[in-house]
Amino acid sequence: MKGRLLIKYLIAYILASAAALILVITLGSKLIYNRILDGTSRRLYSEVNRVANDASMKRIKDEESLQQTMSVLETLADYEGARILYITEGGTILLDTANPSDTAKHTVIQNFDPVALGSSYYTTGNFFGFFEEDQLTVIMPVSNEMQISGYLSIHMPLSALITEREAILRVVLLILGIIVALFMVVLVFISVSFQRPLTKIVAGAKEFAAGNLNHKIEVKSNDELGELGSTLNFMASELAKTGESQRNFISNVSHDFRSPLTSIKGYVEAILDGTIPHEMQDHYLEIVVNETKRLEKLTSGILTLNDINAKKTSLDLTEFDINGMIKATAELFEGICTKRRISIDLILAGSELSVLADYGKIQQVLYNLLDNAIKFSRDNSSIEIETSIRREKAYISVTDHGTGIPSGKLNKIWDRFYKVDASRGRDTKGTGLGLAIVRDIIDAHGQTVNVVSTEGAGSTFEFTLDLAKHD
Ligand code: ADP
Repeated sequence: MKGRLLIKYLIAYILASAAALILVITLGSKLIYNRILDGTSRRLYSEVNRVANDASMKRIKDEESLQQTMSVLETLADYEGARILYITEGGTILLDTANPSDTAKHTVIQNFDPVALGSSYYTTGNFFGFFEEDQLTVIMPVSNEMQISGYLSIHMPLSALITEREAILRVVLLILGIIVALFMVVLVFISVSFQRPLTKIVAGAKEFAAGNLNHKIEVKSNDELGELGSTLNFMASELAKTGESQRNFISNVSHDFRSPLTSIKGYVEAILDGTIPHEMQDHYLEIVVNETKRLEKLTSGILTLNDINAKKTSLDLTEFDINGMIKATAELFEGICTKRRISIDLILAGSELSVLADYGKIQQVLYNLLDNAIKFSRDNSSIEIETSIRREKAYISVTDHGTGIPSGKLNKIWDRFYKVDASRGRDTKGTGLGLAIVRDIIDAHGQTVNVVSTEGAGSTFEFTLDLAKHD
């Protein structure tokens, strides 16, 4: 498993290098050969051309002038490593730099026909069977007073060109070999430096998959791999948090359902088996009904929270008068307020205050805040609900003069199922979901909700809403 990536890279690299090598050896060597052939023939052509048009060449008449020309041709042939022939139209060799002393022999090239060599300025082959080995030949007529007096031809064995090609190819291959080796070192270095963090990341991902979300991937590098490592770490910590909050949620729900269910079960069993006398049954049945109501409230609270979270973006925004909504909500609590002699004072900005929000959800916010304010108020006290406009927003506050909230618990009251003191008499009826619902609704509106509270003196809950836009 370890180093698999490196081996893959190496195999791919070796294959690519081999392909490059084959390409250089085949196509490269052909191109080099063509280039040498072309360059050499051009050079030979210009040399022969120069000699053929030389005045001394045109004046060849007797043996002496022939010898003079011979020495010129010999120098050139020596310099080029080539062989030069001076041939008559009929194919008789007058001069041959390879055989300077045999010039008098006048060898005849059978079937000598310069026209058959074509129009290209060079040819390859054995030159009408004169050479045993294939040659590069450049041939040029020597003319004297508009008459062709002979042909000057220069020959270089193709094997010499091939030797030159091989020398160049060797250098190219050597350079290629050095480059391949250098790249190989770089590749191994990069792969190894990638491999260590990658191995850690893979091992970490396996730990996460196995459920060990506390594992930390230690990749410190300041690149994409480092980023990947810290993203995975972040993902694991978020998953751990979600898992924890789900476990808390389930344990809270179970706990809050169990206590009313236990008391319902206890009272109903006691009624059935006669432990509770007939005349007391109504009293205990009333307790059973209250516990059932509590279960109902808990269930609908959980459903509401679920609903808000699931449809966070789908608020049904309308323009409505928040002052009117406050009056209507306050009226709902008239019965309990009269009973406990609590007065609700409305201090409203103007007769109407038009806001843009989800009507049903804001009604729920007001209901929850007012319900809490009454629940935690002292008898014979007052509650103020106030609306105002500040910084182009509507502010709605609910103030009570009741128990207040200890400052250390203020940030916890928004958590689901949180109750400051679950054992406190009237607090036991609560579900701990009311403020979580308030916060979720206000968050979904992109607004803010705050609390100011003094223990023993009372609390003010205030939230904002967007004003309706009137043209
Ligand atoms: P509950 O159903 O218990 O009222 P909430 O989420 O509405 O649940 O409130 C959470 C806790 O915050 C309450 O149990 C209570 O301890 C505290 N709280 C909320 N509103 C007030 C208030 N107006 N005065 C004092 N304490 C409050």
